[in-house]
Amino acid sequence: MAGIQEQEQVDVAAPEVAVPAAREFAVENPATGEVIAHCPDLGAEEIAAMARRGREVQPAWEALGFEGRGRILKRMQKWLIDHQEEVIAVIRSETGKTYEDALIAEISYGAAAFGFWATNAEKYLAEEKVKSSAILVKGKKLRLRYKPLGLVGVIGPWNYPLTNSFGDCVPALAAGNSVILKPSEITPLTSLKLAEGLKACGIPDGVFQVATGLGATGAALVDQVDMIMFTGSTATGKKVMKTAADTLTPVSLELGGKDPMIVLADADVERAANTALYYGMLNGGQTCISIERVYVESPVYDEFVAKVTEKARALRQGDGGAGTADVGSMTFPPQVDIVERHVEDAKAKGARVVVGGSRGHHDKGYWYEPTVLVDVDHTMLAMTEETFGPTLPIMKVRDEEEAITLANDSPYGLGASVFGKDTGHAEAVARRIDAGAVCVNDALVNYSALELPMGGAKASGLGTRHGAGGIRKYCQQQAVLITPLALKKDPHMYPYNAKMTGRLSKLFKFLYGRGDRG
Ligand code: NDP
Repeated sequence: MAGIQEQEQVDVAAPEVAVPAAREFAVENPATGEVIAHCPDLGAEEIAAMARRGREVQPAWEALGFEGRGRILKRMQKWLIDHQEEVIAVIRSETGKTYEDALIAEISYGAAAFGFWATNAEKYLAEEKVKSSAILVKGKKLRLRYKPLGLVGVIGPWNYPLTNSFGDCVPALAAGNSVILKPSEITPLTSLKLAEGLKACGIPDGVFQVATGLGATGAALVDQVDMIMFTGSTATGKKVMKTAADTLTPVSLELGGKDPMIVLADADVERAANTALYYGMLNGGQTCISIERVYVESPVYDEFVAKVTEKARALRQGDGGAGTADVGSMTFPPQVDIVERHVEDAKAKGARVVVGGSRGHHDKGYWYEPTVLVDVDHTMLAMTEETFGPTLPIMKVRDEEEAITLANDSPYGLGASVFGKDTGHAEAVARRIDAGAVCVNDALVNYSALELPMGGAKASGLGTRHGAGGIRKYCQQQAVLITPLALKKDPHMYPYNAKMTGRLSKLFKFLYGRGDRG
């Protein structure tokens, strides 16, 4: 069987597959360009075998109940913290992110998520007693039940292999489903490492499986499962939805973004500059809700640009240990070309690069310098297409109306932020932006509030993760009606007769036809 060739700091087991894969693919460390592992490239037959396995073991997993499943998830929370250095090493080896980016945005999210879903799954999925005003169901018991769908497929991107790939598996498991995770071919090792953890914490065999492979593996998974949770680009999300239409498989799609930030004239410019830089450059700008473009009201534009420029010049880029670098390498080699194309396009159309603007001086790996652009406008790709890199284009605007119009001038609607000391006013501005999430005097941290829904408007997605909707989507809503005191025949049943029809007609008039209903 094709397995993982362990090298250097990467220490993960090969995925369990019922049928050996004939092919394999290489995984690189993007900070160095070195091949660090090989994984099986699973085909449709192997995925079908994994799906059979997942379905076989699901009923017993569901029967464990919230408490039994929660115990395993809570153990996994501790396992993750106990093994955090190993997991960080694996994440960094396949993404090139800094130590702090892995700790703050991956480990802390993952650990919180295990505890959160272990504790809250039952609350969100508790059977509900429903009261109805419908006359035909008087005296009957009505219940709403959330029943696990069975086998859930999760397809994830490369930017956050723990938070965005694995993170979506946690509520699906807590709800009582078996899960097959298809991580990005760029970053499969983190998922395999976490599968080891779940196994050590006692998850029954086959309940959680990792299907490594290329895009075709993801497409094959869509055909096999009862629901697909997809995170990735809008283009691939559309393909997934088309494939899922053949089997009427429900999808939840978390897609691309081009998040705007608006700095109003009364903003605390120091906070706005710090936030823009941090949430623009975090994870090398490879975050779906990173700040991708900034609109600044003219009275504070020069001060804002001066502060961002000074702070961006001080950023350290590298792949050393904790505390040695602020920004890491890019993760996906072709993404460097996209970033370069956006910067060159902006320059050609009149933008100025005030910081960065090149791949820097690295003799290996895939890097792009933290880059600040000014004199930008909406003729430039850097302001209209998702760059997904360490760039911060800043545009001067006349007033907030122009800022809102430009913020909404995008096919995307994932997140947005507005900065202003009058928070009531800033909030009113934020509420006019078409986005799944808006922040005032902040950005991105809304993602860490697992109680708050996270999802995109417009081309940024369908459905949400987190909150009640983030676990109910992994369940069939089953309506249950029970008639405890059952007559031999209800009055409206056959045979119809004029007397009963007249009575019913009077009843409906009494119930719905009285008074002036405006
Ligand atoms: P892609 O859309 O390229 O890939 C996402 C996943 O889909 C990968 O595992 C990929 O496999 C797989 N895939 C590729 N083709 C198919 C197919 N035909 N059927 C099924 N699966 C397929 O996205 P990226 O990995 O490049 O991630 C970056 C994108 O993700 C950005 O646009 C970003 O904004 C978005 N994103 C959105 C988030 C959100 O919450 N809204 C969060 C994080 C990222 P393989 O890699 O092997 O090709």
